[in-house]
Amino acid sequence: MAKITLDNLAHSYLSSPKSEDDYALKELNHAWSDGEAYALLGSSGCGKSTLLNIISGLLEPSQGRILFDDQDVTHASTADRNIAQVFQFPVVYDTMTVRDNLAFPLKNRGASPQYIAERVQQIGAMIGMEAMLDKRARGLTADAKQKISLGRGMVREDVNALLFDEPLTVIDPHMKWELRTQLKSLHHEFGHTMIYVTHDQTEALTFADKVVVMYDGRVVQIGTPQELFEKPEHTFVGYFIGSPGMNVIPAAIERNMANVHGAELPLAKAFAPLSGKVELGVRPEYVTLTEGEGLPVQVRRVEDVGRHKIIRADLFGTEINIVAGEDTAISPDMTRVTFDADHVNVYVDDWLKEGEAA
Ligand code: ADP
Ligand code: MG
Repeated sequence: MAKITLDNLAHSYLSSPKSEDDYALKELNHAWSDGEAYALLGSSGCGKSTLLNIISGLLEPSQGRILFDDQDVTHASTADRNIAQVFQFPVVYDTMTVRDNLAFPLKNRGASPQYIAERVQQIGAMIGMEAMLDKRARGLTADAKQKISLGRGMVREDVNALLFDEPLTVIDPHMKWELRTQLKSLHHEFGHTMIYVTHDQTEALTFADKVVVMYDGRVVQIGTPQELFEKPEHTFVGYFIGSPGMNVIPAAIERNMANVHGAELPLAKAFAPLSGKVELGVRPEYVTLTEGEGLPVQVRRVEDVGRHKIIRADLFGTEINIVAGEDTAISPDMTRVTFDADHVNVYVDDWLKEGEAA
């Protein structure tokens, strides 16, 4: 197992990139701690696979270095990096049995037949395929083949890191949950460094100790699920994480007073004069719909989603979402909203701005 350091890393698929826009992966410095479980989260095309393939050695970066512990592996092959990678779509040997597919990485490394037999049995159980070990892979469903791919990725205990690139895409929803749980327990048991790529926030938040959020070729925040929820570093994180995402409201700010379309709103922190696009970010969970004081809103729709209600309203022409308890009665007199001041974040040009004590 290893700590993985990315040093001034960047990648462009073009041979002579000119501007930052030409980079699929913008310059990045980060150390992935040994033994930690990370999720790499972001929408399609933001550069997740590019980053993962650079770490595994399938892709050579146009700039920067990769270190495993203190060893520079930038030009080393995947095999030399001693990494297991599982892809979005199954990679199996059709003519081999499930058992031989699972055993392959162990045989390759010269493990003893007895160890191989035991380990393959154990992994077969983890992926729910004990009963099919002697079947040939050919003719199995895509779902079953992907489970074999996952199993092959997990079979070696001595890898430096385990990388997963959206591995549950073709797996049915129930089994998804089951396999994610298995991956998590595998992590607890062996303590591998794991990087799990997904575009699904639920998957990321339930799998990982730390979530790395990417947006447009850039890592915008690395944090625990709690940190991503409470203090999104970028409006994209606020919007992408949470359901519904964080409300983003244009405002002007003077010291500790925000002005939203002429309505004043005291903040918990004070700010030096700000230039650029200034916005408030407040999660729907920290907005309260009321009959009393507050900013004026018009309720458009109330959605009952079981454990709570989502209220969609209009605030000076901007949509604002409010989360209320399932027992909260919504009356037509509720035409104001208040924000929990401790949970109002300030963004300048989409990046979080920390204030000072007011
Ligand atoms: P993700 O995995 O987050 O969906 P990718 O890393 O696959 O994103 O892609 C990031 C960007 O790089 C996208 O704009 C994609 O079109 C581009 N890209 C990916 N692979 C290649 C390639 N082999 N050649 C050229 N451009 C690529
Ligand atoms: Mg991808």
